[in-house]
Amino acid sequence: MGPAEAHKSLEYLTGALKAPRIKQDAVRIAATARDQHWSYEEYLAAVLEREVAARNASGARLRVKAAGFPAIKTAEDFDFTAQTAITHSDYAAMASGRYLAEAGNIVLLGPPGTGKTHLATALGITACHQGHRVLYATAVDWVHRLKDAHHTGRLDAELTKLGRFRLIIIDEVGYLPFEQEAANLFFQLISTRYEKASLILTSNLPFARWGEVFGDVTIAAAMIDRIVHHAEVHTLKGSSYRLKTLGTESLPSTTHQTT
Ligand code: ADP
Ligand code: MG
Repeated sequence: MGPAEAHKSLEYLTGALKAPRIKQDAVRIAATARDQHWSYEEYLAAVLEREVAARNASGARLRVKAAGFPAIKTAEDFDFTAQTAITHSDYAAMASGRYLAEAGNIVLLGPPGTGKTHLATALGITACHQGHRVLYATAVDWVHRLKDAHHTGRLDAELTKLGRFRLIIIDEVGYLPFEQEAANLFFQLISTRYEKASLILTSNLPFARWGEVFGDVTIAAAMIDRIVHHAEVHTLKGSSYRLKTLGTESLPSTTHQTT
C-alpha cells in the first residue's frame, strides 16, 4: 500500500472508529515521528493519546453540564486571603479527590456569602474532571426530587440511581426548615450514601442547630453522625463577600454562632 492509499484507508478506519482526532492528527504526528525517529510503539501511543485526551475533556464538559451547578466557579477565582478559615493547601488536599475514593464527605459551614457554594462548586467541577459523575442541588430541591419519587412509588429506584453518582452536593441546608416527611426522605438520602459515595454539604447553621432544620433532634443527630463519621468539616468565617464586592463592608454583618 502506497502513502496515498494508506491515507485513504486511515480516513475510513478512523471514521469507523469514531476517532476524529486521530483522523486529524495521524499524518501530522507521523511527520514528527519520522523526523525524530520514533519507534512504531511511540507513534501509536502519541496518536492514541491525542484521542483519549480529547475524549476525556469532552466527557468532563458533559459531566459539568449534567451536574447542574448554579454557576461555574473555580479555585482560581477564589481569593484565599479573603477567607482565612480555609487555606489553599486545605483546598488542594480536598481537590486531590481522596475523599471521593474513600466515600468521605466534606461539610462547609458558615454565614451567607463566605464562599460555601463557590468552594463546593469548584470541588464538584474538579471531580467531574477527575472522571466522576456529580449532581448539585440545594437541600430544598433534593427534597422536592425525593418527594416526587416517593409519591410516584419510585423512591428506591431514585436512591439507587443517585447511588451511581460519585458525588452529590447538597447546598444550603438550613435556609428552610423541613417538615417530617422531608426530613425522613433527606435522612434516607444521607444513609444510603453512607460509606458508599460522597457528599458535600453546606449550611449556614452549625450542627448544634440542625435539630431546628429537621424538626427533630434525634433524626438530626443520626444524620450528623453518618455525615461526619468520615468527613472533613470547615467553618468559613467573615462577612459576606457579596457585600464586600459592593464596597459595603460597613453594613452590619450577621452574627453567627460557630460550632
Ligand atoms: P455562600 O454560599 O457561602 O453564601 P457564595 O459561595 O455563593 O457564598 O459566595 C457569594 C459570592 O461571592 C459568589 O459570587 C462567590 O463567587 C463570591 N465569593 C465568596 N467568597 C469569595 C472569595 N474568597 N474569593 C472570591 N470570590 C468569593
Ligand atoms: Mg450558597
